[in-house]
Amino acid sequence: MKWKCSYCGYVYDEDEGDPLSDIPPGTKFEDLPDDWKCPICGAPKDMFYPLLDMSRKELKEFLKKWRKMSQEERKKFVEGLR
Ligand SMILES: [Zn+2]
Repeated sequence: MKWKCSYCGYVYDEDEGDPLSDIPPGTKFEDLPDDWKCPICGAPKDMFYPLLDMSRKELKEFLKKWRKMSQEERKKFVEGLR
């Protein structure tokens, strides 16, 4: 799964990990340390959202919902995707 930083657009690809922060390939986003930050702009994990195959319009709707979700709700949602 891929995750996008909503500040700078950096994409965290779980298959690749994050070499800049010594995160090995295959590390799920949920398993990143809580203090992991976007290697480009320093945004916290909270600012990332799962990059799903959807149109611009769908993405807009999705992001509205995603922003309102609690940590727990996000966790459940992502579990459902995996
Ligand atoms: Zn960023």
